[in-house]
Amino acid sequence: MKAVRLLKANEFPVQDIPVPEIHEDEILLKMKSTAICGTDMRILTGQKTRGVRYPSTIGHEICGIIEKVGANVLGYEVGEHVAVANVIPCHHCAMCLTGHENACMERQAIGYEFDGGFEEYLRIPKVCIESQNVIKLPESIPFEEGSLIEPLACCLHGQKNAGVRMDDVVLIEGAGPIGLIHLLLAKIAGARKVIVSEPNEYRRTKAKELGAEVVLDPMKEKLEDVVKRETDGLGADVVILCIGVPAIVNQAFQLCRRNGTVMLFAGFPEKSTSDIVPNLIHYSEIHVTGSTAYTRQDYREAANLVKSKRIDLSGIITHRFKIEEFQEAYELAKSGAGLKICIVN
Ligand SMILES: [Zn+2]
Ligand SMILES: [Zn+2]
Repeated sequence: MKAVRLLKANEFPVQDIPVPEIHEDEILLKMKSTAICGTDMRILTGQKTRGVRYPSTIGHEICGIIEKVGANVLGYEVGEHVAVANVIPCHHCAMCLTGHENACMERQAIGYEFDGGFEEYLRIPKVCIESQNVIKLPESIPFEEGSLIEPLACCLHGQKNAGVRMDDVVLIEGAGPIGLIHLLLAKIAGARKVIVSEPNEYRRTKAKELGAEVVLDPMKEKLEDVVKRETDGLGADVVILCIGVPAIVNQAFQLCRRNGTVMLFAGFPEKSTSDIVPNLIHYSEIHVTGSTAYTRQDYREAANLVKSKRIDLSGIITHRFKIEEFQEAYELAKSGAGLKICIVN
């Protein structure tokens, strides 16, 4: 079968390798769509090395059709369409035991410890099946959208941390795929107004199409002025940072209303620091939170949003490539020209 093999940073040829053998407790998945994530790009370029194996196959936003079911696996059948939650919690660490399995300290993940989705057939390990991470989808759900349940689950988790509520004004900085998913979720959560700040014109147009009430170019307009104007001088109830630029963190506190929340959703470059004025947090009682991965419950809720068509992710998918065209997909992802790029099979 064809697989994108990560040999080392910046070296990831498409190779012919044997189809994985599965044991009686495992499932073999015929991969149909695996979306490229910003994290994949950081792994491919060597910016992220933690938990990464060489050689291995990465790709963790996965959707496919069950090809084979091990004799001991109950509840799944050949031919079923499934999306796979790639993060497998250990169930026994301090974080798992206190209801925060997304922050599991001994997590294993498909696309890291186990080979990921940029290949024709994927072995789903026993721990993943036992953890109920394999979610069935009706055939009416396009595979590409199924593969976006994973980033949707991450965003859903972040919005729970941020506590977006009815009648909120939400400011989203950065309208890449993640910023746009946050926009869609904020609308569902009942936000009265979503303001999106994004320098790229194409992405601004997308944000408008997907329902943002206010869209601006922070290079041309002063973000602070726009937020003041749109919130009667109060600031946004929730500020979601979907770009990992340390220099904008302090400004986020200024853009937030008193008792509002700033959520640092995007990761920042390793070892980066940012100067903050602590009194902005202190006197304004600003809640600051981050977000990491998702719980299985978040993933299920995300899958239900997609299955019920309550959320439409199709507008975020802009490109599809075959496995053998991975280099091309990578170049496109690097250029920032598209939004979500899916490797399809
Ligand atoms: Zn991802
Ligand atoms: Zn754990």
